[in-house]
Amino acid sequence: MQPPDKHRLLDDVEAFCREIREHEELCYVERRYNDRLIPLAKKHNILGMPVPTEYGGRGADSITYAKALARIGQEGTGVRTFFSGHTSIGQYPIMTWGNDEQKKRYLPASCKGEKILAFGLTEPEAGSNPLEMQSTYERRGDQFHLNGVKYLISNAGIATTIVTFAYPVGQDSAPVQKSGQERNPILRPKGRVSAFILDTKGPGYSSEDLVAKMGMPTANTGMFEMSDCPVPAANLLGPEGDGFRIAMGTLVSGRLSVAAGCLGVIEDCLAEAVRYAKERQQHGKPIAKHQLVQEHIAGIEMDRLATEALVHLAAAAKDVWQADPKNVELRSKVELWAAQAKLFASNAAWDAADRAVQVFGGRGWSTLYRPCRHLQDVRVCRIYEGTDEILKLKVAAAVLGGKEWEAFK
Ligand SMILES: Cc1cc2nc3c(=O)[nH]c(=O)nc-3n(C[C@H](O)[C@H](O)[C@H](O)COP(=O)(O)OP(=O)(O)OC[C@H]3O[C@@H](n4cnc5c(N)ncnc54)[C@H](O)[C@@H]3O)c2cc1C
Repeated sequence: MQPPDKHRLLDDVEAFCREIREHEELCYVERRYNDRLIPLAKKHNILGMPVPTEYGGRGADSITYAKALARIGQEGTGVRTFFSGHTSIGQYPIMTWGNDEQKKRYLPASCKGEKILAFGLTEPEAGSNPLEMQSTYERRGDQFHLNGVKYLISNAGIATTIVTFAYPVGQDSAPVQKSGQERNPILRPKGRVSAFILDTKGPGYSSEDLVAKMGMPTANTGMFEMSDCPVPAANLLGPEGDGFRIAMGTLVSGRLSVAAGCLGVIEDCLAEAVRYAKERQQHGKPIAKHQLVQEHIAGIEMDRLATEALVHLAAAAKDVWQADPKNVELRSKVELWAAQAKLFASNAAWDAADRAVQVFGGRGWSTLYRPCRHLQDVRVCRIYEGTDEILKLKVAAAVLGGKEWEAFK
């Protein structure tokens, strides 16, 4: 039996989902940002689902949060991606590595929607290998000054605060060289990456939305540039030089959120395919009576069940590990299972959306119908938070025996 507050949270998520649907569909067809998402999330108090109650959140455990994201995922990957950016990879690193003062400054305000968060790791020249990032920081008095460009960042254009990463500029820094040419004046240092909590309203910060997108037209995706962007020394997240560990640790939460959202996509594709197959008549009977249509229904159901099992397994393991955070073996297991859940779920959701489009026939090709929107949106889940290829390499290295088997070493 779950304590009553978990039920209340899932009820609130349900109410949010019902209320957002109509506007999301309209915005999708008009291919514009859903400006009611944040106000509605605020109204239903779901902007800090796993944030501890003492910091203004709902205190959800990983399983409850995964169920909430699965329900939200039914409304579209764009809607769910907002929550992943704000909570799973935005609030999470502050919850996990922030000091008490940082938590008090950022978490309650972000749970109320007064602050909107994002996570800026990827750069134009550093995707699958974030260690190739070119962003730098330099300490000047009680401030750090950040320079660099972050690219393909969820919520970049709407965020008030971004957890971001950079190398120190040091004596051993050298200008970035590529093909014998200096690409830009940013120095590529050799020190260790640090993490920062960056407020976007100050000087030296600018962002630009990405509009030419395959899917998720209702969600914000963009790039941002830091030009001598001052960050107070108090906004260093975790110890200096610990940024890469923070970034990789955050991906566990992010990957689980993607996997949970994909479960929702599959659930919605199944519901839509079943409903439509029973209604639509061809050759004198509902298409659900044709065996090859049933094959699609069975395929989506297998996608759903296997994804649900993996998401719940990984989420439950994360809760056990969080109760025993120093347990290194458990942490490795959670990292691996989160990666496996994300890899499997994103491919299963892609398959389910493709099958649902097929069941809908010509209508399935139109964005007026939910399977088409899911198919367009969910493709990104095989790319962000670790591509298929990177996750397969991670799984293979673990099976082969660990770090020494990592293919990209
Ligand atoms: C809509 C969207 C939202 C995003 N949101 C965020 C966000 O909020 N924050 C953030 O920091 N980033 C975000 N990203 C960035 C995302 O995480 C990266 O796009 C992803 O990590 C891949 O990096 P890349 O695009 O540079 O591709 P690349 O790393 O250039 O990879 C290109 C191809 O090469 C393959 N490849 C690369 N290295 C290897 C290897 N060693 N072995 C085998 N294959 C390899 C990849 O798998 C891929 O198929 C987002 C991206 C998108 C599209």
